[in-house]
Amino acid sequence: MQDSITYCPAMIRILVSSCLMGQKVRYNGTAKLEGHPLLMQWQDEGRLIPHCPELAAGFQIPRPPAEITNTRSGSDVLSGKARILEKTGNDVTDLYHIAAFSALEAAQSNNCRYALMTDGSPSCGVRFLYDGSFSGRKHDGNGITTALLEKHGIRVFGDTEIEQLNDLLLITEKQTI
Ligand code: SF4
Repeated sequence: MQDSITYCPAMIRILVSSCLMGQKVRYNGTAKLEGHPLLMQWQDEGRLIPHCPELAAGFQIPRPPAEITNTRSGSDVLSGKARILEKTGNDVTDLYHIAAFSALEAAQSNNCRYALMTDGSPSCGVRFLYDGSFSGRKHDGNGITTALLEKHGIRVFGDTEIEQLNDLLLITEKQTI
């Protein structure tokens, strides 16, 4: 899901998971975060490109939860070594590939240097994922969208790393003045 805003071409842009912008697009119909001051500031500056890979791929709200199988991560899904299954057992790997490429297209067409994504998601996860057993167990790893973005040189931050992204943004923009 992408908002139609006019952006200054010189500004460093950030692809952001739509659910971090308060949009109720998660599998259970909720948002992840609402009203973080830095996100509000960046939104006012016109640097954010909100995008939900799963909705872009055609998933509905609500939808069954999905996890990457066997304690694997997004790069394993990209290389065909792991699958993504819904809790129902439905294999949704192909749709998740479409989701990841939709995010890459959104990032590249809007010249995003960075991305800020929702952790724990099989699409947007950055630092951790659920292990595929639907038991709540976590492990280190990233989602398929994050893996694809990083493969294409876009640095991805998790939703607990907003301040770190802000620090990098300030340094990067100082260097380009
Ligand atoms: S985590 Fe990513 S794929 Fe999941 S709802 Fe948020 S933006 Fe969409």
